[in-house]
Amino acid sequence: MSELNALHDLLKGLGDEVVRSGERIVGRRNADWSGIPAVPPLAVLYPRTTREVSQALSICHAHNQPVAVQGGLSGLAGGGCTQAGDIALSLERMNTIEDIDEIAATMTVQAGVTLQTVQERAHEAGMMFPLDLGARGSCTIGGNLGSNAGGNRVIKYGMARAQVLDLEAVLADGRIVGGVRKMVKNNAGFDLRNLLIGSEGTLGVITRAVLQLQARPGSVATAWCGLADFDRVTALLRLTRNRLATGISAFEVMWPGYYEYVLANVDGLRAPLSARHGCYVLLESVGGDPARHQADFEKVLQDCLEAGIIEDAVVAASDSDAREFWNVRDAPTAFPILMPRLIAFDISFSIADMGRVSQDCVARLGARWPGSTVLVYGHLGDGNLHVIVDIVGASDETVLQVEAMVYGLVEEYAGSVSAEHGIGLKKRGVLGHTRSRADLEAMRAIKLALDPRDILNRGKIFPDELLTRRMND
Ligand SMILES: Cc1cc2nc3c(=O)[nH]c(=O)nc-3n(C[C@H](O)[C@H](O)[C@H](O)COP(=O)(O)OP(=O)(O)OC[C@H]3O[C@@H](n4cnc5c(N)ncnc54)[C@H](O)[C@@H]3O)c2cc1C
Repeated sequence: MSELNALHDLLKGLGDEVVRSGERIVGRRNADWSGIPAVPPLAVLYPRTTREVSQALSICHAHNQPVAVQGGLSGLAGGGCTQAGDIALSLERMNTIEDIDEIAATMTVQAGVTLQTVQERAHEAGMMFPLDLGARGSCTIGGNLGSNAGGNRVIKYGMARAQVLDLEAVLADGRIVGGVRKMVKNNAGFDLRNLLIGSEGTLGVITRAVLQLQARPGSVATAWCGLADFDRVTALLRLTRNRLATGISAFEVMWPGYYEYVLANVDGLRAPLSARHGCYVLLESVGGDPARHQADFEKVLQDCLEAGIIEDAVVAASDSDAREFWNVRDAPTAFPILMPRLIAFDISFSIADMGRVSQDCVARLGARWPGSTVLVYGHLGDGNLHVIVDIVGASDETVLQVEAMVYGLVEEYAGSVSAEHGIGLKKRGVLGHTRSRADLEAMRAIKLALDPRDILNRGKIFPDELLTRRMND
């Protein structure tokens, strides 16, 4: 009955423009891209202001009503999915860009603005917002911050966390914390901004943020390199990082299994190099003066060739060449169709370990499941590996065994079970491979201090045994 009382009070306080239920939400998508099925929510809240978010949460808190926090629902961990008894809180109507400050190079936005809109507005203002990922058209700044998204340019600009000066959020009981100050330096007490970023909607609802914009690069140089082995890949990373004055903006590595699979199976791809190599790297650097930057880039690659670090390389002569290189790297968007039962991993390691991890992973999975497809690629500069496993006719039991093997490897090499997609519902059971008991207890203590009734994204992030211990027990 408590949920009916909550709905009654929400309607009374916020009206049916904000609170929608029944017929008005039939057919709505309530799940993200994780593949985890969602249970239809009791209602969906569409607040327009921070004040309305605050009102909504204080009513839900009073009624012990669980709330699923949702941005663009492009997440890959199930963080935004609704579960039995949830009310969904969507930020999609809070989509205003409030301010662009050309002196501070900042943009102040509401949390429901899409990443692509932010990128476009920054571009129009002669600057750049560097966060970038495949779901840019649908994901929102609130979701990017909630999940501390990574993506394509982390090696130069950092993850979402590094691109925010301040944020405003609403706690579970409706109190509003933080704000939209534009300072880089602010050591006045605990950094609540960084506590909320990456907390996947479990500690508070982000409502507004001040984003740090960057200078728009005058030049982008891109190359596709073939190398003999992984030791040479790390040598290339070291050398290009040290020699290119403006640094590198992407360093994507692909092992031969991946390269050969995508060229054979994904339509419209062209092999950047004709010969076979032990590893492939897509290298990108952004700079200021186009002629000088391109010449420096080519000189560094020439030196790498002469030093035997790379076996061969091709430099993009046009945007369309660069696009063709990126198409080979972005081919995984076709994987769900090519391998509907694929098992995907987003894991991270110290860069020096990535060669051995990849080798062990392919060898162990291949020995246990001969004939399986195992593809390895990733944002090497960030220590992030993506591993795709496809075993024809795999049962649920086999999937669990594959996960146990790969996450066992993560533990063995002191890596992380989630590099950039978060934990959500999907990885709760394996969080203990990466975080100690003391870490998990500390996280739970923070959760219960800020959300004592456990209403925000209930049941997410924490393993089952910690979920049973509620503050009010
Ligand atoms: C094709 C594709 C490519 C992708 N590529 C990448 C990639 O390269 N790197 C990467 O990191 N991710 C990637 N993702 C995953 C996803 O796009 C990101 O996690 C994105 O940041 C989620 O944003 P969203 O608005 O869709 O959030 P949602 O999916 O709605 O939510 C994500 C999480 O954030 C929480 N949340 C949402 N809004 C708020 C808010 N206002 N306040 C607090 N918490 C909130 C939710 O509760 C949930 O836990 C990709 C996804 C797809 C489909």
